[in-house]
Amino acid sequence: MNRSVRKTVIAGNWKMNNNRAQTKELIGEIAPLVKDAGCDVVLCVPYTNLETAVDAAAGTVIKIGAQNCHHESAGAYTGEISADMLAEIGVEYVIIGHSERRQYYGETDKTVNLRTKAALAAGLKVILCVGEHLAEREYGITDEVTALQTKVALSGITAGQMKDIIIAYEPVWAIGTGRNATSEQADHACAAIRATVAGLYGDQIAQATTIQYGGSMNAANAAELLSKKDVDGGLIGGASLKSKDFAAICGAVN
Ligand code: PEP
Repeated sequence: MNRSVRKTVIAGNWKMNNNRAQTKELIGEIAPLVKDAGCDVVLCVPYTNLETAVDAAAGTVIKIGAQNCHHESAGAYTGEISADMLAEIGVEYVIIGHSERRQYYGETDKTVNLRTKAALAAGLKVILCVGEHLAEREYGITDEVTALQTKVALSGITAGQMKDIIIAYEPVWAIGTGRNATSEQADHACAAIRATVAGLYGDQIAQATTIQYGGSMNAANAAELLSKKDVDGGLIGGASLKSKDFAAICGAVN
């Protein structure tokens, strides 16, 4: 990470875990442990826990995010939640394009782009996920895959809006598998994504863009991954459900 030009952000993705009581309890445990973290701290929780999480995080350094949003602001989209609805209840971040959304819910680069635009228009900060499948890595096309995903996702996004975009490099084969990318693989991929951003918006914006690594990051491997110059934080799944582990990852930034 290069903290002189960009923010380090550690974000937890709770996925479909925790009820409201557990949300309150876990945020209560995490908050004192991360109060002096040398990074921004975000927790992305299930929709039904968002208001509880916003209340529990008030007065702490923790910001709250959702895990998806729809691209229309209202309409006949049964089961969906708009970005405006999230912003209205105090949510500040939203994950867009997580590989589980792409895999199970038909999310495409095009819908990722639409959702990203809607989130920005609602005033949310976006954690935009890109990453290759194992076969794509084995074919040696990781950088091409992330470049394509990044370019389509950012299509129509202005240079001025880039300050509200965090990109999360999340190799699909590393998510929830216990098999993290090596720090060299993570650094290389984050640097390649930064080069793609530079091609779109110029070097100054690319250098200022936070690019996280996500995929089985934990208390034991965080320091090594975060020591790399192009890795500006982490998107953390499993380890964000345990207060001490998540706090240790935030602590590894220091
Ligand atoms: C994720 O869900 O974005 C993720 C990185 O999960 P995990 O840390 O469990 O691999």
